[in-house]
Order: sequence, then C-alpha cells, then structure tokens
Amino acid sequence: MAQYGFLGLGIMGAPMAANLIRAGHEVTVWNRTAGKCDPLVAMGANRAATAREVVAASDITFAMLADPAAVEAIVLDPNGVLEGISAGKGYVDMSTVDETTSRWVSEVVTEAGGRFLEAPVSGTKMPAEDGTLIILAAGDEGLYGEAAPLLDIMGKKRFFLGEVGNGARMKLIVNMIMGGMMTSFCEGLALGAKGGLESADILDVLAAGALANPMFAGKGPLMAKGDFTPAFPLKHMQKDLRLAMALGDNLVQYLPSAAAANEAFIRARAAGLADEDFCAVYKIFTD
Ligand code: NAP
Repeated sequence: MAQYGFLGLGIMGAPMAANLIRAGHEVTVWNRTAGKCDPLVAMGANRAATAREVVAASDITFAMLADPAAVEAIVLDPNGVLEGISAGKGYVDMSTVDETTSRWVSEVVTEAGGRFLEAPVSGTKMPAEDGTLIILAAGDEGLYGEAAPLLDIMGKKRFFLGEVGNGARMKLIVNMIMGGMMTSFCEGLALGAKGGLESADILDVLAAGALANPMFAGKGPLMAKGDFTPAFPLKHMQKDLRLAMALGDNLVQYLPSAAAANEAFIRARAAGLADEDFCAVYKIFTD
C-alpha cells in the first residue's frame, strides 16, 4: 500500500490531511507544534517526530506551510525534508510561496534524487474541510499523475500549469486580485456606514447584481457582526500581496491598486490584526 506524508497541520493542512485519512490512505504526519498531530493520530495517522521521518516513510509527502521562510526551514533542517529524500520520492508543496522559493525547493529535492510538484491551492478553511479546493499544480508531470487521486480528495478542480513557478505565479495573481477586492469591499462598507446605509442593504444590493460573488456573500455578514475568526489569517494575505508586489517588480508591471491593498494590509498588521481573518482589514477603515 502506498504511503503518504503530510507536513504542516495548520488551518488548511489539518483538514486536508484528515480528508486523505478518511479516504482510507496510510498517512504519516508531522507539525512543528506537535500537539496539532493528536486529532489526526486519533483518526488513524502515524505520528512522526521529524519531517525527515515523514519523508523517509512516505512515497509522496505533501506540505502545507506558512510562507517561504517556513518552507525553506523545513527543507534544510538537519531533521528536515532533504535528509529523508531518496531516489523516486515525491514532494508536493501546497504552501503559497513565491516562484524563487518554489524553484529552489524543486532544485534541491531533484538533486537529492526526488521529484517535485508545486501545488498551491485556491479556497479557504471550509473548502479544505469539504475537499473542494482548486489546485494549481506545476512541475514533475509524472508526479502530478501519481498524486492526482490524492489531489482529487483534497480538491474539486485541478490545473497542471507546466514548469515550476507557474503554479506559484497563478496563486499570487489570484490572491492579489482577492486582496484588492477585499479592500475595495471594506471601503464601500465603511463609506456606506458613514453615509447612513445599513450594511445588510449594501450586501443585498451587491448580491443582486454583477458584483455578486462568494467572497462578499461569505465575509460580508461576518464583518457586519464583527466575527473575524481566522479562516485565512490576515498575515498570510499580506504575505501574498508582498510576494505579488515582488513578482510585479521583477516583471516591471504597474500594479497601483495591489500596492494600495498591500499598504492597507501592512497597516492592519501594525494594528495587531495579523492573526485575525483577512477581512479584519475592515477595522482600519472604521476605527
Ligand atoms: P496556518 O494555520 O498559519 O498554518 C501554518 C503552518 O505552517 C503550521 O503548521 C505551522 O506550524 C507551520 N509553520 C510556520 N512556520 C514554520 C516554521 N518556521 N517551521 C515549521 N513549520 C512552520 O496557515 P494556513 O492557513 O494553514 O496556511 C498554510 C498555507 O496555505 C499558507 O501558505 C497560506 O498562505 C496558504 N493558504 C491558506 C488559505 C487559508 O484560507 N487559510 C487558503 C489558501 C492558501 P505551527 O503549528 O507549529 O505554527
């Protein structure tokens, strides 16, 4: 029976790994904060003491980590990914990172004899729980084919975008648009409130027309009642905007509204909102 590994059991990684276990797969898990492994071990996962152990025990290891620094740390750690890689093993990084980080992981994993796929996801906590993520894969196409049944448990749609870096670019572009939409939405709600309009009415009007979308429909009522429980932590949204700005810089692309959105999220981080949901950026427009 094929063996699978999962590194990083945060808001997204835990439900994604849980879906693999529920589907009957043999999964070995590791997380920096070890206690987050407990619910998955209770579901039948094997517990590993290090990332190296996970990779050594698995044919394909999936990773869902915070940011480029976390991805790099786990690969290079003396008890990390590279120490467990051997010929033919697959490493699928689903974290949202920049293309430079992704290409570097691809190079070192491949040099160690392994195979690499980047596979960042679009979708948040609930799609991770429901197995309805959108998966943006690129890299080793053979590994993509082998991982496909697992990706189909975690997601409802998947794309293979060619060489490593294209998945990272696609993901950053999606989230750059999302960050801009969210700040624009917040400005509209804040202006409406100051102008004496009910937020419920604004949401109803938006939902009735061409601007209707699941993000406004999902986040709007939560924002109106002040529920900023993190599904997508604000610090990660700002990380994605920062990485999108760097991509724009590298490609000499004019991105004025994304730059403004990035500034809004930086201000929100400075206001202590990093660990709240990304829609908590609303508070900087209303406080
Ligand atoms: P999260 O809840 O903050 O989880 C982050 C994970 O990374 C945790 O397992 C954390 O370990 C680990 N980590 C952080 N720094 C580390 C380090 N230096 N060494 C080892 N492990 C480290 O984040 P998330 O929401 O699951 O997001 C994970 C990734 O998916 C991010 O790249 C995010 O941008 C992306 N993403 C998120 C969403 C969403 O809606 N949440 C949607 C799409 C994509 P600890 O438990 O020890 O802190």
